[in-house]
Order: sequence, then C-alpha cells, then structure tokens
Amino acid sequence: MTSSYLSSGVSRRRFITSVVGASALGAVGFSVLKPVYANDDMVVKGPRVPDVKPQKVSTHCYVIVAKDPEPTPENQGMFSNMGFIITQKGVVVYDTGGSVQIGEMMIRQIKKMTDKPVVKIFNSHFHGDHWLGNHAFIQEWPSVEIYAHENLHKALKEGVGEFWLNMQARATNNATAGTVITAPNQVLKGGEVFDMGDTLLRVHYYGKCHTDSDFCLEVTADKTVYVADMLMVGRVANMDDGSYVGSIEGIKKLKTDTQATNYVQGHYKFGPKQADIYLEFLEIIYNSTVAYQKEGMSAAEMKDKIVAKMKKFRDWKGFDALIGRYIAIAYTEAEAASF
Ligand SMILES: [Zn+2]
Repeated sequence: MTSSYLSSGVSRRRFITSVVGASALGAVGFSVLKPVYANDDMVVKGPRVPDVKPQKVSTHCYVIVAKDPEPTPENQGMFSNMGFIITQKGVVVYDTGGSVQIGEMMIRQIKKMTDKPVVKIFNSHFHGDHWLGNHAFIQEWPSVEIYAHENLHKALKEGVGEFWLNMQARATNNATAGTVITAPNQVLKGGEVFDMGDTLLRVHYYGKCHTDSDFCLEVTADKTVYVADMLMVGRVANMDDGSYVGSIEGIKKLKTDTQATNYVQGHYKFGPKQADIYLEFLEIIYNSTVAYQKEGMSAAEMKDKIVAKMKKFRDWKGFDALIGRYIAIAYTEAEAASF
C-alpha cells in the first residue's frame, strides 16, 4: 500500500463523499483545486480567521488550541492545535494550521507577544491540517527553515498535499481558498538536536505511530514535549494511517526518553497525563482485540465487549461514530501480526 491516506477506510470514504457532494451542490465559482504560484491579486482568497488567544504551557512554550474535532465552514478548517516556542534565538513553530488564513492568524498572535522573527518551523506529520499554514509563514519570512520528517517529503511526492488541500476546501465551502501547498525545505530523520540558546530542542522519531512521519519536539528547558497526534486524548478520529503496536511502543519510549511533565497534543488539551491516558486507551483496544481474536471472534462480534471496557473514554469526541472503525483497524493489525 503506497498511499494509505488515499486508500482510506469506510468512515473516511463517507466523509469525503459527503463533502464532495456538498461542494458540488454549493456555489463554487472559483477553483482551489489547481493552486498556482500567482500574484496575490490574482488569487481569490477565503476570509480571515478570527484571532484565538494563545495559551501558555510553560516558560517558553505556547499553544493555540482549536475547539472543534473536524473542519467545518464555521471554523474555516481550524481543528488542530498550533504550538510555538519563544527562545533566545527566535520563535520556533510546531505546526502551522490547515490553511494560509489559519497560518496568518497564528502570525498575528505571535507578533503580539514578541518582536523576534520565526526562525524555524516543524511540520509534525503529513496530515495537512497541521502544515498547510506553511504558506503564510514563507510569505512573511521567505528564508524560514521548515523541517519535516523524510516520510512527509515522500508523502508530498505521492500527492498528500493535493488530497488535504481539496479536503479542507470542500469541508469549509472554500474558506481556505488561496492556500498554496508549501513544502518543507529541511529533512529530519529523528535524533536531531537544535541549540536555541536558552533551551535545546530534541527531535524524537519512533517509526510508524499515528503515521509514519510523526515526530515529537522536546523543549528541554521546560520539560514540555509537542507530540501532535501521537497522543490524542479527547478525540477519536483517525487511526487509518497508524499502528497500534508502533504507537504503544513509541509512547512508552517517549515517556522514558523525555521524562516530560507536559504533553502538547495536536488536538484538544495539553497536560501532564496525556501519555498515560492515551496509552491506556490504545492498550485496551489492541490487547482486547488480540485476546478475542485468539478466541475466534470477528471484529463485529468483539466490538460491544471492547466498548464495555471503555466507559471512561465514552465522552471523547467521535467515540460513538468511530470506535468500531478503530477496532476494525486493530483487528487487521493483530491479524497481520499473528502470521
Ligand atoms: Zn494527524
């Protein structure tokens, strides 16, 4: 399977079908499907995104928190968190949001807090809600370094940028129009360390977890780690590109490697317990699936039994709609592992 984000599962297919349908019925008078490197005045651009005040996580670390679990016309495609770190050597951004408008909103917030330029950007993984905002930053600081794992660079060559650009446009009735796919210009493999004067930044890569391109960024002075979607406490959404075993092992290593006191997620709340809570969530699903599979049960037969063990997670956004899909993915992974 070369393009897992394109192959997608049932729920993803339904989602895409429904947004395509909505877009076809709506009045779409211009194309965002073929972004061009044009003069600004030639591009029809969606409206600006209202300001969201950054929250302070720790001494150097901030995050702009998105309130919704999915892109809608009302939220203009803003459903992922964006982190930034104010260091002696400039501002470092971890995720730029899902459109040029969201990136511009983030730049406005950063400029309210510091005169320092953004000197480094990290794109946490290939899902476009986390990096399509690169466009805004490269317009503001043309020489800014944009880092991403080598597998994100690979996914871009396979069309992940177009996939996400179109999805964001259709889900928001083109509120994200004008966004140009802006690729990262630096390659990470994991293990890199950046000296920012008053803190080090460490890159931790653990193989395939939420995707094969996610890495965490540790801010050593603060014991804070930006983890993006490797931890997703509060939201059941997308395991289609990930691995249960990879995630469980990766999260355990992350805990040992960083001894972090704060984890900043790609969606919803940051906090000290996120790694433990998400680990428990994944382990209940995967370990139960393996056990029931050994007893000869199908994914459908085990669903209710597993859900019954997950009472404390029932209020997570998307739980009822997508937990069956999560179990089906665990089933497929467990089946492959047993051969
Ligand atoms: Zn993601």
